[in-house]
Amino acid sequence: MPTLKELYGLRAACVSGDATVGGIAELAGMDYYTDESFTGSFDTNLTGKALLTVGLLNEQNYDWVVMHVKGTDLAGHDNIPIVKKEIIEKIDTAIGIILQKIDLNSCYITITADHSTSCEARDHIGDGVPTIIAGGDVRQDCVTSAGESQFMAGSLNNLTANDIFMLQMDLIGFTDKVGS
Ligand SMILES: [Zn+2]
Repeated sequence: MPTLKELYGLRAACVSGDATVGGIAELAGMDYYTDESFTGSFDTNLTGKALLTVGLLNEQNYDWVVMHVKGTDLAGHDNIPIVKKEIIEKIDTAIGIILQKIDLNSCYITITADHSTSCEARDHIGDGVPTIIAGGDVRQDCVTSAGESQFMAGSLNNLTANDIFMLQMDLIGFTDKVGS
């Protein structure tokens, strides 16, 4: 399997408490960062993950850093929507920490998910996932508030995970032209 370095010249890192995600990241040639306080569960140290992510970007000059959070998926499987809401609120706080410490004039942030995990179904489902890309000169669409329903009207609607990855690579200058 070719690494992201071989494919795009990308120096990439992954911050996670989930060993499976860490293994996939290493397979892709990313440096995997974890900590015993990163549990991959409801009690994970999201502030620690956010601060580590910012350090990897600002001090270690990684081109692309993935900060992974598992808890929302677990809450879906366990059908505990209140816990899912609380984790989303903690993620919101962690994103706030990141936004205070990065310069969106020289950095992009993407917030997305690999799939939906429905409390009702207690399983992964095929619904689209809320996705935001911000920073630099990225164009704004008409969506002004965050939420699964609002995002259905956005410009990223129906793009695949591969599309979202390639959009990011294009924005940070690691691809030949995409879509043109
Ligand atoms: Zn799952």
